[in-house]
Amino acid sequence: MNPPVKMDFCLYCKIKVESQITIHLAVCHRQEEDVAAALVEPIYSKEREIKMNKIVNEGNFMYNSEVSDGRKNTSNI
Ligand SMILES: [Zn+2]
Repeated sequence: MNPPVKMDFCLYCKIKVESQITIHLAVCHRQEEDVAAALVEPIYSKEREIKMNKIVNEGNFMYNSEVSDGRKNTSNI
């Protein structure tokens, strides 16, 4: 019944994060402007979710574009 673990790419560390990336962002990158802007929103609020998703999507987009460009050796990831 367990869903497969979703891996997200951290925009700031430039690594894949196995656990909940929103928690990783809040703990490790709270000083980043975009993360700080999300964290001022109430927890579980729609605004917070939207802002967090935007950061997560940017990280995943950056990862996907690097992979498709072949600029990065991904064989060991
Ligand atoms: Zn990170």
